[in-house]
Amino acid sequence: NNHLSDRINNMSTSATLAMAAKARELRNAGKDIIGLSLGEPDFNIPDFIKDAAKKAIDENYSSYSPVDGYGDLKEAISRKFERDNNLKYKTDQIVVSTGAKQSLANVAMVMLNKGDEVILPAPYWVSYRDIVKLAEGVPVEVKTGIETDFKMTPEQLEEAITPRTKMLWFSSPCNPSGSVYSESELQGLAAVLLRHPDIFVVSDEIYEHINFRARHASIACIPGMYERTITVNGVSKAFAMTGWRIGYIGAPQWIAKACTKFQGQITSGANAIGQRATIEALNAPVSKIKYMIDEFHHRRDLLLQLLGEIEGFKLNIPEGAFYVFPDISNFFGKTFNGVKIDNASDFAMYLLENANVATVTGEAFGNPNCIRISYAASESELREAASRIKQALSE
Ligand code: PLP
Repeated sequence: NNHLSDRINNMSTSATLAMAAKARELRNAGKDIIGLSLGEPDFNIPDFIKDAAKKAIDENYSSYSPVDGYGDLKEAISRKFERDNNLKYKTDQIVVSTGAKQSLANVAMVMLNKGDEVILPAPYWVSYRDIVKLAEGVPVEVKTGIETDFKMTPEQLEEAITPRTKMLWFSSPCNPSGSVYSESELQGLAAVLLRHPDIFVVSDEIYEHINFRARHASIACIPGMYERTITVNGVSKAFAMTGWRIGYIGAPQWIAKACTKFQGQITSGANAIGQRATIEALNAPVSKIKYMIDEFHHRRDLLLQLLGEIEGFKLNIPEGAFYVFPDISNFFGKTFNGVKIDNASDFAMYLLENANVATVTGEAFGNPNCIRISYAASESELREAASRIKQALSE
C-alpha cells in the first residue's frame, strides 16, 4: 500500500506469528493441528507469582510506574544479576520494558544510526533483523550450520567486521537452535571484539535458566566487555509469563538512560501488575522453577529420539531453550504425496498440510536448510507429531 510508510512496507511479518495464524485457520476449518511453532512455555504461571499479582491489584498498583520500572523491582533485578550472572548492575543501569522485545527495540533505536552494521550470527531470533532495520541499521548475517552446532567462530566474527560495524546481537541459549555458548567460546569472541573497541554487544539471555548444559555464561563478565555489553533478559520464558510482558536490560548507565528517555516517549513504564509480580519471580530461588526445566530436558531427549528415527533428519543436540532445529536439506528435490519440496518453507508447509503439524521454516531465522520445532508441548503431542511426520515422509 503506497499510503503506508516505507518503514512498514519494508518490514516482514513475524514468521512465527504467521505460522500460528495459518495453523489457527486450519484448526477453525476442523483440522486437528498440533502446534509446535510457538516460542511459549505450555506451563501455567507458578502460583506464588499469581498471588503477588493479585495482591498488587488489591493494593491499587494502578497508576503509571516510573518509566524505567519500580525502584524495588530494579533492586530485585540487580540482586538477580549478581546471584545468577555474577554481574553488578546498579539500579540506574537497569531499565524495565514491555517484554524483552521492547528492550531490544529500545537499544536499537538509541544505539544505531543509518547504515550502522549489526552482526547477527545466523540462525538468529526472527525479530532481530526487522528491529535493526527499523532503526535504519544494516543486518549483517554470519551463516553457521549444524557442523559448528550453529555457533559463530571467532574467525567468522573477525571476517564480518568492517569499519561500519556498530554492534553484535546474539542469544545464548539460542532461539532457534538451542545452542549454548560456553564461557571459553564467549572468551574467543570477546578476544576479537576487544581489538575493536567501538563495537557494542547485545547479549540476549532470556533463556538462561533453560539450559541443560552447565552454568550459564554472560559475555559481560569477561574483562573489558562489561562497558560495551547490554545484557537483555526477562520473565517470559523461565517463569512462563509471556503474556505479562516484562523484560529488562542491564547496561552502562548512559545507555540505560537513553533507553529510558526513548521509552518515556513511546510507552512509559511497563505494566504495573506485571512488574510487581516480577519482583516475587526474581526474588524466589531458581529451584522453584526447576520442575519446568527438568520437564523441558526430558522432552528434548524424547523429541531427539523420535526425530532420530526418521530417515533424513540431521540433528545436533540443543543444550538449551525449548527448540530443536533439524537440518532437513536431505529432503530438498524430493516429492512426497505429489508435493515437491524445494526448500525449508516448502517442507514446513508440507508438514502443516500433510501431517497437521505446525513448525517454522528456518528461512525466517536466516537458515534455509532447517526448520524449528518447539517442544513446549505435552509428551503425547510430541509423540503424535513425530509419528505423523514420519508417516507423511514415508510416501
Ligand atoms: N529474545 C528471544 C531470543 C526470544 O526468543 C524472545 C521471545 O520469543 C524474546 C527475546 C522476547 O521475549 P519477550 O516475551 O520478553 O518480549
